[in-house]
Amino acid sequence: MNAEQWRLHDHLSSRSDNHFLKSLPEDAYLRLRPFLETFDVPNGYVIPNTRAAYSYLYFPLTCVLNIQGELTDGATTEVATIGRYGFFGVNAMMGVSGMGGSAIAIHGGRMVRLRNLPGGSILMSVPSIVRDMLRYFVFRNHLATMAVICQRHHSLEQRLAHWLTMMRIQTRIDDLDVTHEQLGRLLGVRREGVSEAMKHLEVAGIVSQTRGHLHLADPSRLRHHACGCLDESRAIHAKFFPNRTLDFWELLPGSAPAAAPNERRESACVNARG
Ligand SMILES: [Zn+2]
Repeated sequence: MNAEQWRLHDHLSSRSDNHFLKSLPEDAYLRLRPFLETFDVPNGYVIPNTRAAYSYLYFPLTCVLNIQGELTDGATTEVATIGRYGFFGVNAMMGVSGMGGSAIAIHGGRMVRLRNLPGGSILMSVPSIVRDMLRYFVFRNHLATMAVICQRHHSLEQRLAHWLTMMRIQTRIDDLDVTHEQLGRLLGVRREGVSEAMKHLEVAGIVSQTRGHLHLADPSRLRHHACGCLDESRAIHAKFFPNRTLDFWELLPGSAPAAAPNERRESACVNARG
């Protein structure tokens, strides 16, 4: 990592792009500000699994990080996707240097980082932020559990539509630079399977694609192609962050109100059979 790439975070207004920085009380933010650094992260940027890199907390503003689990034979699968609604690197605050996986910018953009000492200590002195961070980790744990069920029960086309819809929520744009090879690694499937599922979405007029570039032509219909996990995620997020729910889904056309738990479970089962 090139230290010169990072510079003092001097764009006060841009902190609202990340919901954790946004929710900081003003006095806490002003105390943290001298320790915040900004970097325009290119597509494919890697936060390596090193002690130096993991001595920071990372807050995506407009970029999206993909956390990948990796086996010793090199096989990888997405463990989590983190954008403006989250943060990454809390291990350092717990005295653990490393994650067992790397973070890769699946979508380039601006990111802020905060050195654990003293920045993390200042954060931990703000009760409302500690509560939000704990809620976020429980939310992430729910998503990880759902991902296991999703991989077992839902079709690749549904999972692909789910992933693309979540990326649209995080990035707020309809164009992504991502290859079928990358999507295969993220979803833990072969590239050929991604190409076939993508072809179905393209024939339906939901996406259009050129080599390495994807345009979400009809996000509303894309959202309805996604498996029931999408509404499940929404309902769980609403439970943990009731004041942020509207914003989380505001750019998701055709989004239905969060269903009751029983209704959601039935929906997921129907999708699993479909
Ligand atoms: Zn699913």
